[in-house]
Amino acid sequence: MEIKKAKSYGFCFGVKRAVELAQDSKNAVTLGPLIHNPLEINRLLKEYNVKYVNSIDEIDERIKRVIVRTHGISKERYKKLLDKNIEVIDATCPFVKKPQEIVEEMSKQGYDIVIFGDKNHPEIQGVMSYSIHKRVFVVLDVEELKNIHLKEKIAIVAQTTRKIEDYLKITDYLIKRYKEVRVFNTICNATFENQEAVRELSREADIVIIVGGKNSSNTKQLFNIAKANCEAYLIESEDELKKEWFLNKNLCGISAGASTPEWLVEKIISKIKELT
Ligand code: SF4
Repeated sequence: MEIKKAKSYGFCFGVKRAVELAQDSKNAVTLGPLIHNPLEINRLLKEYNVKYVNSIDEIDERIKRVIVRTHGISKERYKKLLDKNIEVIDATCPFVKKPQEIVEEMSKQGYDIVIFGDKNHPEIQGVMSYSIHKRVFVVLDVEELKNIHLKEKIAIVAQTTRKIEDYLKITDYLIKRYKEVRVFNTICNATFENQEAVRELSREADIVIIVGGKNSSNTKQLFNIAKANCEAYLIESEDELKKEWFLNKNLCGISAGASTPEWLVEKIISKIKELT
């Protein structure tokens, strides 16, 4: 059986940067797990003593350095950290900073803010907090928009990991009904490239293995795309692989979520080779 990796997969620019920052600042504490990958978090703990806390209240005087993760945090929480008089290492991805800045600027200019995304996701909670007014509406689809009465001036941004096709449905709905709609494409290319690559690969493969955290939204999206075209499995470690998955298969595709390190992908490939 042939094994083929997707043209684009795994660590994106933002995660690579965050992991490097964590490694460079040994003994730091991250606010929430740095990335959605338990194995990589363990490695950072073992090799660099990078721990994590779940809330700012857990940060006591023994902690000298705190890393803000790629999703970013709300403006208020950022200020709370600075007030603690500790070193703040900001690993917020520049692609997440961008919608934060847009929301701040457009809200200052009096635009209603629409955010396409999941209001419970930390990235969106952070982005929302940058509005200087309360007219911020987070929606997941057109149906939710129908219940909201918006003003004539609207600015819209999207969660970085959303699908462009879904974003277009929402912007299309708004543009047809409102006079001024400022659309910002804040969807991250890394996600888009990984999605396109897995789509292409899953069309030719008999089976696709997606490697990544089961709680990572971009990993789940890769899995759903692959599953639509062929047999697909989402795994976190090589122990989950089953010999029978590969019986009578000619081509096995491999892709990985944006938080999956290359060393893990290689480990999975070795194990597949062992099993087949
Ligand atoms: S997926 Fe994109 S937005 Fe998210 S951390 Fe990676 S580069 Fe940044």
